[in-house]
Amino acid sequence: MENDFLKNLSSGQVRELVDAMYEKTIPKGCYVIREGENGSHLYVSGEGEYDVIKEGKVLGKLGVGKAFGELAILYNCKRTASIKAVTDGKLWTLERSVFQTIMMSTGLKKTEKQVNFLKIVPLLSTLPSTLLSKVSDVLELEVYKKGDYIVREGTSGDTFYIICDGSVKVTKKGEGGSEEEIRTLKKGDYFGEQALLKTDLRTANVVAVSDSLECLTLDRESFFQLVGDLNELKDKTYKDIPNGRDEKHETDIQQTNKEYIDVTLDDLEVIATLGVGGFGRVELVKCRNRPTLAYALKCLKKQHIVETQQQEHVYSEKNILLACRHHFITRLFKTFKDKKYIYMLMEASLGGELWTILRDRGWFDDSTTRFYIGCVVSAFDYLHSRGIIYRDLKPENLLLDKEGYIKMVDFGFSKRIDSGRKTWTFCGTPEYVAPEIILNKGHDRAVDFWSLGILMYELLAGTPPFTASDPMKVYNIILKGIDQIDVPRHISRVAVTLMKRFCKENPVERIGYQKDGVQDIKKHRWFQGFDWDGLNAKTLTPPILPAVASASDSSNFDKYPRDENIPSDELSGWDKDF
Ligand code: ATP
Ligand code: MG
Repeated sequence: MENDFLKNLSSGQVRELVDAMYEKTIPKGCYVIREGENGSHLYVSGEGEYDVIKEGKVLGKLGVGKAFGELAILYNCKRTASIKAVTDGKLWTLERSVFQTIMMSTGLKKTEKQVNFLKIVPLLSTLPSTLLSKVSDVLELEVYKKGDYIVREGTSGDTFYIICDGSVKVTKKGEGGSEEEIRTLKKGDYFGEQALLKTDLRTANVVAVSDSLECLTLDRESFFQLVGDLNELKDKTYKDIPNGRDEKHETDIQQTNKEYIDVTLDDLEVIATLGVGGFGRVELVKCRNRPTLAYALKCLKKQHIVETQQQEHVYSEKNILLACRHHFITRLFKTFKDKKYIYMLMEASLGGELWTILRDRGWFDDSTTRFYIGCVVSAFDYLHSRGIIYRDLKPENLLLDKEGYIKMVDFGFSKRIDSGRKTWTFCGTPEYVAPEIILNKGHDRAVDFWSLGILMYELLAGTPPFTASDPMKVYNIILKGIDQIDVPRHISRVAVTLMKRFCKENPVERIGYQKDGVQDIKKHRWFQGFDWDGLNAKTLTPPILPAVASASDSSNFDKYPRDENIPSDELSGWDKDF
């Protein structure tokens, strides 16, 4: 509970994790963790004293009861410091896969339990399970003491209660004015369900009789925002946002990409480097048969992909981009492979990265920010309605085309998920990661709306809201929430309200995610008067007009040295469908 990360877990989760930890003795002088090595364990010191060492220097000491190395249970990472036992010691150890399994299963069990509670209620019993699992995310657990009044006769309320532990008595005012007990309710029983249909005039008191009482509560407004009016849902089937493949659209895309079928790697000539990423580089290339056109060729080192087990992500990037066609998403025409690299031939956006422009200008005003956020909202709407989540929003991945409109690149973390489903892989850039990803709760498209709030802040302020010297610290600040952040004075209040509506800790409360989808964003005061049609028709004048002299002008990008590290061949064959 003293550890900034672990204290965010539920007591049930902590108990299970503690049960799964095992003891390890460590002799004096030995290393527990070595700087630069890959880590997969968290440690808690049980006995002994330890030095924290970085680049040969002792930075500090750790005594009994300290947790360390926690980043390694989130994902595979290089240790940034060494830990060495100064005395003989004992450690408690937790491995990543165990942590992840426990976090996932406790989350799933909780949802399942709550859905089962909801199914007992006649008003809700006809709703589909996918919808009920969404509703379970807005349930709040309330705890009462013996004698507490949960509801009072004669008052009005809009909350519905399900007892999950303990018991209550239901009482009514009798003839002589004294309270008479009508009945008792226990675990699994519920009361106040009329409140889900209309503001309920409570016809009885409900009083806790057990020493402690736990209720799951659901209020009509949250229910309404998330799924709609229960009065209407009863009669018609619930429709989630459309979500799935659009076969015709995909065939059309393939049809228009056909002209690139004959292009081969040998036809391509590198003119300049546009970007360097974790897995390789993106080159500006010319095609010998079409001298007036230029393309971006993303070249990824196969060896590196295999070492970091990113094969699936790379396939996802290819398959998703080949199935998408949207004016704010970079087009992918064709892919290639050879012994060392896989390649993606894309349209080149020569206006440069939004990141570079932001760096040069410091920060953007409201209307500039609104234009770029509008582009991303439009692209997200397109992706989400096809069941695709993006998961890597940040200014480095937003390029400007030569007109000044946004093109989203880098679909390495994007994924298709079915409606009502969640996914558990940790991914994203630390500053942009949503709290449910950090806590391994399972996540869905709501993480994209979180990152939109972060992007809005970064564009308006010049830096993202949650920053720190290392990723673990960033995650811990994210978990404290957006209300802990001092927003710079020059950012308008209306902008701050929208930004905070994106950065709600509870995913189901985020604007854009609820029943009216991105309509809620468009209706927000910050977007009042914004010309969405003009944006999508590209008739609006963009706020920043990049200078692009020709199809081969790479001057809006930073300069990169040549890559001296030629990777060795990788011939395992995982890329046969590339
Ligand atoms: P990382 O994982 O480090 O974010 P990555 O290897 O996944 O990077 P991308 O983000 O796709 O690669 O591309 C890296 C950079 O290359 C981009 O930030 C951008 O500057 C440039 N780039 C990528 N695609 C294009 C494109 N179509 N046109 C112009 N520049 C591009
Ligand atoms: Mg990138």
